[in-house]
Amino acid sequence: MTTKCYDVVIIGGGPVGMALVIALQKCGLSTLLLEARGLPEEDEDPRPLALSHGSRLILERLNVWNKLSAPTPISTIHISNQGSLGRTMITTEDAGVPSLGYVVNYHNLFNTMYTIVQEVRADYIAGAKVTSLETCIEHGQVDFEYENKNKQVTAKLLVLADGGRLTAQIKDIDYVVHEYEQWAIVANITTEMPQSGIAYERFTPDGPVAMLPSGDHFALVWTVSPDIAQTVIAMDESVFLTKLHDHFGDRLGKFIKAGKRTGFPLSLKYATPNTSQRIALVGNAAQTLHPVAGQGFNLGLRDAWELANVILASSDMATAIGTPAMLSRFRKKRQIDSHAGRIFTDSLVKFFSNDNILLRNASGMGLCALDNIPPLKRFVARRMIFGARG
Ligand SMILES: Cc1cc2nc3c(=O)[nH]c(=O)nc-3n(C[C@H](O)[C@H](O)[C@H](O)COP(=O)(O)OP(=O)(O)OC[C@H]3O[C@@H](n4cnc5c(N)ncnc54)[C@H](O)[C@@H]3O)c2cc1C
Repeated sequence: MTTKCYDVVIIGGGPVGMALVIALQKCGLSTLLLEARGLPEEDEDPRPLALSHGSRLILERLNVWNKLSAPTPISTIHISNQGSLGRTMITTEDAGVPSLGYVVNYHNLFNTMYTIVQEVRADYIAGAKVTSLETCIEHGQVDFEYENKNKQVTAKLLVLADGGRLTAQIKDIDYVVHEYEQWAIVANITTEMPQSGIAYERFTPDGPVAMLPSGDHFALVWTVSPDIAQTVIAMDESVFLTKLHDHFGDRLGKFIKAGKRTGFPLSLKYATPNTSQRIALVGNAAQTLHPVAGQGFNLGLRDAWELANVILASSDMATAIGTPAMLSRFRKKRQIDSHAGRIFTDSLVKFFSNDNILLRNASGMGLCALDNIPPLKRFVARRMIFGARG
């Protein structure tokens, strides 16, 4: 078996892995992206992604933004708490940005990035499933299956952007895992009142429910307990719409139509540390968050962006790449942002998703306080948009 050697091999061509390979083009390094799935048409992922304004700025620099088909801008975020009086609205003026975020579809983002990866002529192999990896001081080695054959490559740096599926093979990286015992049901919803740029996040004892503006309808992310998830997915459409309306309330009038429903089990999972010998973790491989407040991809994109910056900032890239010094710089750069993202989303879920009357009153008061203290609102809004650095 002939083994080709690269500077960087990225395992996992989801949006984060593709962002990294695009960011590393034109720097003269040899890169290879290995993706287990086939071509994008074969796999459709319906989840909506709320991209922050900070992510827009990164995607603009990667030349991805201008090719995305019609992201829907979010002008206001409306946050409420079922069964208590507190509610708050965060607007573009509060945050000092032209838009609080933009809603795109995962599949749409995936396809756009895939086209760009082809255009920049990055080495990309679709249908390449990595089966094992190991490293020594000088390099990392990857074995993968492609067209029923076993292949092997080596690189000075291996980047895991595979959502965390292969991390168990790295002996000095552990995952901290917390199962939320919740599923997210996603579907497109047509409502009586048209969407007007407002994203609704409603907290309930069962978990949050979000209605995000998306084109001329809403993209629903509804958290339910695992034992009813399949029932909710299989429900007759009119029963589903009635249950959703009862749960969400009447802010948008009647719920008229629901598109295809899909469910995702939810957990918090993060790697400690996020690097190992000749290995860096990015995106969901580094941290998988609850979708409340739409932070996961935004954080993962910043992982990819910072890793590219750390690589490109080295005066002697080809020698420095994958060294302990380079990996330590990356680890330090991502520590605070990743930690803050995890704490923020996890606290939102735990604080708001419970039926303890005292906590529910406290969370209602918290929303009132947020609504009435503009500097606090600006602080929260900017951290949601730009990460820990605000
Ligand atoms: C319901 C829901 C709603 C969400 N909403 C938002 C939101 O509004 N905003 C936001 O920022 N985030 C959101 N997220 C989180 C977001 O979807 C993820 O953070 C993001 O998709 C992570 O991207 P990734 O590229 O790291 O991983 P993934 O998207 O999981 O991609 C990993 C890739 O690696 C490939 N792979 C896996 N194993 C191998 C292997 N052995 N060999 C080769 N390739 C492999 C997979 O095929 C896949 O393509 C949401 C998540 C869910 C579930």
